[in-house]
Amino acid sequence: MRKSLVAGNWKMNGNKSSINSLMDGLVNGLNSNVEAMGSVDVLVCPPAVYLQQVADKVSTSSIKVGVQNVSEYESGAYTGELSLAMLADFNCDYVIVGHSERRSLFGETDAQVAEKCQAALEAGVIPVLCVGETLEQRDSGQALAVVEAQIDAVLKCCGIASFSKLVVAYEPVWAIGTGRTATPEQAQEVHGAIRAVLAAADAEVSASVRILYGGSVNAVNAAELFSQPDIDGGLVGGASLKVDDFLAICSAAAAA
Ligand code: PEP
Repeated sequence: MRKSLVAGNWKMNGNKSSINSLMDGLVNGLNSNVEAMGSVDVLVCPPAVYLQQVADKVSTSSIKVGVQNVSEYESGAYTGELSLAMLADFNCDYVIVGHSERRSLFGETDAQVAEKCQAALEAGVIPVLCVGETLEQRDSGQALAVVEAQIDAVLKCCGIASFSKLVVAYEPVWAIGTGRTATPEQAQEVHGAIRAVLAAADAEVSASVRILYGGSVNAVNAAELFSQPDIDGGLVGGASLKVDDFLAICSAAAAA
């Protein structure tokens, strides 16, 4: 039985004041509904400069905290990067790895993403490994092959056992921030294919790994997406910045 996870990726949004309001709203909303929300894990991933502020806010709740990226290197001359050792100072539980914006805007390769997963796992931080195809790749019938290659890079680098510790997020690039969501059937097809690739290596690990859907998840479409057999929650961008919407998505995951 996989416990649902709803993760908010705030991207490069927010400031001290808006983050205070957002966190107060989330902590109060979740704490006032503890019983119903017990069946979902909730994660927020703020910009890293606000980690301490968010860590302080979650101390009275079960909300987990993560970051949106991390270096694969331990330390040294990597201007602008953050290390896993630094994250350890902030009780950071998760790190998003290989988000499509990191891959397309910052040139992260499948191999580099796999190295980041490896480094995070070694440090005891849970990677949320993002995979997904572009619209062009989907339209040319390559969606499953692209996603399987992205999964395969991590399998080769980290081994199948690593998938019992990490979380996968399927995020079709064409659905991220566009308002265009994959249909539940389209999402389920890819989630099922990811699980099949993992099952070929280890059926038990495959059955236990949480696979989130991401791409314009909102308060209205969440329940139908989360009702699919291989969708175990969501990675949420825009809607994670709005208290009511994010809480509604968490409720949909808890009820799924
Ligand atoms: C994301 O950033 O991972 C994401 C899915 O964004 P959005 O929900 O805004 O499409």
